[in-house]
Amino acid sequence: MIKDLTITKFRDGLRRKEFSALEITRAYLQEIERRNPELNAYLTVDSEGALRQAEEVDAALARGEELPPLAGVPVAIKDIILIKGLRATGASKILEHYTASYDAGCVKKLRAQQAVLLGKTNCDEFAMGSSGENSAYGPTKNPRDLTRVPGGSSSGSAAAVAADMALGSLGTDTGSSVRLPASFCGVVGLRTTYGSVSRSGVMAMTSSLDQVGPFAKNVEDAALLFRAIAGRDPLDATSNPQEYGEDLVRPDWEKIKKLTVGLPKEYFIDGIEPEVRKVVTEVVETYRRAGIKIKDISLPHTKDALATYYIIVPAEISANLARYDGIRYGRTQINADKTQIGADGQRKSALLDLYFQDRANFGAEPKRRIMLGTFVLSSGYYDAYYAKAQRVRTLIRRDFEEAFKQVDAILTPVSPHLPFKLGEKVNDPLAMYLEDIFMIAVNLAGLPGLSVPARVPPGHLPVGFQLISPHFREADILGLGRLHEMTTANQ
Ligand code: GLN
Repeated sequence: MIKDLTITKFRDGLRRKEFSALEITRAYLQEIERRNPELNAYLTVDSEGALRQAEEVDAALARGEELPPLAGVPVAIKDIILIKGLRATGASKILEHYTASYDAGCVKKLRAQQAVLLGKTNCDEFAMGSSGENSAYGPTKNPRDLTRVPGGSSSGSAAAVAADMALGSLGTDTGSSVRLPASFCGVVGLRTTYGSVSRSGVMAMTSSLDQVGPFAKNVEDAALLFRAIAGRDPLDATSNPQEYGEDLVRPDWEKIKKLTVGLPKEYFIDGIEPEVRKVVTEVVETYRRAGIKIKDISLPHTKDALATYYIIVPAEISANLARYDGIRYGRTQINADKTQIGADGQRKSALLDLYFQDRANFGAEPKRRIMLGTFVLSSGYYDAYYAKAQRVRTLIRRDFEEAFKQVDAILTPVSPHLPFKLGEKVNDPLAMYLEDIFMIAVNLAGLPGLSVPARVPPGHLPVGFQLISPHFREADILGLGRLHEMTTANQ
């Protein structure tokens, strides 16, 4: 029943009384019970809460109330996003005993639409990673091929939608973390414009880049989820009052068909796996045949994006992660034997000892970034690294500004690779970082990016392509994404 469900179909079926919200929620919970032990996409499932929320939707429907667009839609939330009363670990040992005391801004908006919150999804620890393998609670597996990674860091959110364990979900994208797992799992993922969605109640990784974004089975569903969570929140000073028009969910086809799409030469380079290249080339041809103008462009500072990202990101991480001292959000381990006298006979600070002991619970990747970040921010190095990276960031943003004078949207591959094998890159941080090469410039420029599954022959691994638009022009890339779905639907 839920296999072919989309948000639109769900709404229609609910209205026509083909099923109740409770029945659908039960079906998703059953699927979670059946598949999660193998996939490890959820860290926390709130069956009781979800069933209660679904019952409320059915009751409102029975009273003849007009329901909001997402009423009864079962969704999953990345574990770095807070849901009041549920455990929020951020996939880290250091928050093993932390329960959220308030709802994140985006969760409040989903609640206002009466969406059903199924639970919290697995991810790379504090959203650092590209494969989902950096979780302290074990990796998530790719539902399309259990020997492969689902992509990270929002691994569980993508896998949950791909495996029918949620009808939609939320993740965060600081450098790739919505688009990459969407591409690897064969679902749609939208990295939203910086400032378009509240980050109140979202564990901060890199505050100048972090954004919340939706996963869905098709582009229209992603648009519906995005519209629900977008908008100003007084609790996030960076959230923007930008109003999105109706064309976000109902494309203006006349306008979409007149858009020009740019292909940046820096994104079609050697090193792209042949199958990825072939599939993305076919996507370009599909657009051409649909009447979209295609133009070659250049984003000359692309080659500097990865280095810039890996200065700015660790710098901000080292500051943001200082709050996890093992005390404020619950102790990670209780050690009754707190020695006050060191081996040298000196009295030691019990508190300092406690901090050191608890911060040792960070996994390898957060530790690596905290150390890197502390280094690049340290006196004498700040100008050489951090300040310089900020200047290069401006050049990267300008590249896009120049490109958008010539084209309305930009098309690129999401990853140069197909989903890789579990364990293949865990011991090679640089190879892992390189997965994001086609995505991070978007974040550095604060732009939106949509990952859309391309058509692949049956039995082949999923391949996503990326559409990038100017700030707050999500409607254009969502429209283009839907155009691709429509033109390939009957092939
Ligand atoms: N893979 C990238 C990183 O590890 C992106 C993370 C993200 O977008 N949250 O930094």
